[in-house]
Amino acid sequence: MVRVSNNDRIFVLTGAGVSAESGIPTFRGVGGLWRNYRIEEVASPSAWRRDPRLVWEFYSMRRRVAREAEPNPAHLDLAKLEQRIGDRLFLCTQNVDNLHEQAGARRVVHMHGELFKSRCDSCNRAPFADARTYEPPAELPRCECGGRIRPHICWFGETPFEMNRILQALDGCTLFLAIGTSGVVEPAASFAAQVSGRARTVYVGPEEPANRYAFTERYLGKAGELLPSLFEVVERR
Ligand code: NAD
Repeated sequence: MVRVSNNDRIFVLTGAGVSAESGIPTFRGVGGLWRNYRIEEVASPSAWRRDPRLVWEFYSMRRRVAREAEPNPAHLDLAKLEQRIGDRLFLCTQNVDNLHEQAGARRVVHMHGELFKSRCDSCNRAPFADARTYEPPAELPRCECGGRIRPHICWFGETPFEMNRILQALDGCTLFLAIGTSGVVEPAASFAAQVSGRARTVYVGPEEPANRYAFTERYLGKAGELLPSLFEVVERR
């Protein structure tokens, strides 16, 4: 059990595993979404320059899968924790789905972007809500400026979003919790090592992550099964 006291500031990092029980395949898991696509052909700036139609086909498929998904007990439990301890919880996700929000979480930081947002690849227009899917041979979406509309996703080789806020929250946390993330994709894979020594570091997931040595406690199992009884929130006056 993970004890949360009045003084704790919790940094939660979630990965694809937290949405696995909602039916969204993980990156590397069996039956993973990515298996039919070579990742470098669909999720990088060079892929976008080379074949934007293929990129849009891939993200349309992901939008269709995510549209059907519903939050599971892990998402619901994290939203409940946020309700109890407010901004002492910093919820940072590598996921691009919106299941944390659907579960009721209000302050989710999407470091790798959001599947249901798009932006222009040329002008400074702000990212906007967009759930459309592209069906070939339809024309690809264009911005008023003439640029192409692209998914609002941090692709391989791009800088994750909100890194200043994230680094600040890592700096101030007393408890770091990683849930359902393989510990391979940087920079998130280094967060645990960055805070270990001065914060408790906890991992939750069915298998040991690649960065397991950075964790002081590891709970092996499915997030949706473990999370609902994981936290003991101690509120002292
Ligand atoms: P990953 O696919 O590399 O690893 C998934 C991890 O989840 C594995 O360690 C696995 O053991 C664990 N896992 C599987 N089932 C689980 C469960 N029921 N409960 C808890 N853990 C479980 O994912 P990653 O580390 O997040 O990195 C992959 C990248 O892929 C990220 O950048 C992410 O943006 C992207 N991605 C996102 C989604 C999504 O938005 N839902 C889905 C697939 C991939």
